[in-house]
Amino acid sequence: MKDDMDYQKARERMVERQIARRGIDSPRVLEAFRSVPRHLFVPQHKREFAYSDGPLPIGRGQTISQPYIVAYMTEALELQGEERVLEIGTGSGYQAAILGELAAEVYTVERHQDLAKTASQRLQDMDYENIHVIQGDGTEGLPEHAPFQGVIVTAAAPEVPRPLLDQLDEGGRLIMPVGSRGGQVLKLYQRREGDFSVKALSPVAFVPLIGEHGHSAP
Ligand code: SAM
Repeated sequence: MKDDMDYQKARERMVERQIARRGIDSPRVLEAFRSVPRHLFVPQHKREFAYSDGPLPIGRGQTISQPYIVAYMTEALELQGEERVLEIGTGSGYQAAILGELAAEVYTVERHQDLAKTASQRLQDMDYENIHVIQGDGTEGLPEHAPFQGVIVTAAAPEVPRPLLDQLDEGGRLIMPVGSRGGQVLKLYQRREGDFSVKALSPVAFVPLIGEHGHSAP
């Protein structure tokens, strides 16, 4: 059983060795990773692995992503602090907490009711008043809270759901793994004068995005 000091040291090591050393250099992003207690977002029996260099199971066949991937996707959004951000795929709530440190408001949508409920309670217990967890099909986005200056999708589909592009603000950025169930590429979209620029970043492997504008349910 580790105490808080052990976790803090493990977290510092994670930031240094897995994130900063691999090229993430935004001071705001690094600070967010130093401050969010990742061990509180994984199941109790996996806590000792919370700061290891990989994804971990969180139930329902879903995962909390590798810390480096969370950092990489977060940095790509270039958040300054004033943004309203939409996340699709709340999972454990860890990515939402990181976003909550870096943006004004975070809306995060999770398809599985039990995961949404656990994440919501967890974030409330940590006093994240700027994070709103919603249960539903995130491929529809959240038109009632649009436009978003940042959108992050943490599950994969063959194409970006059209409603998510439509809900992106002028100048806003969207990052998502795009490809087949077997493997995908992270793609970064930016809305510019009604059009979208697209950049292919790195190869990744995410769980499927299941919904109206994604994969059909297994
Ligand atoms: N961001 C999460 C975290 O920090 O723990 C990890 C996300 S996990 C890799 C992907 C999540 O997307 C799963 O929890 C899955 O249930 C969810 N998901 C899949 N399709 C979805 C959809 N259409 N709407 C909302 N969530 C969805």
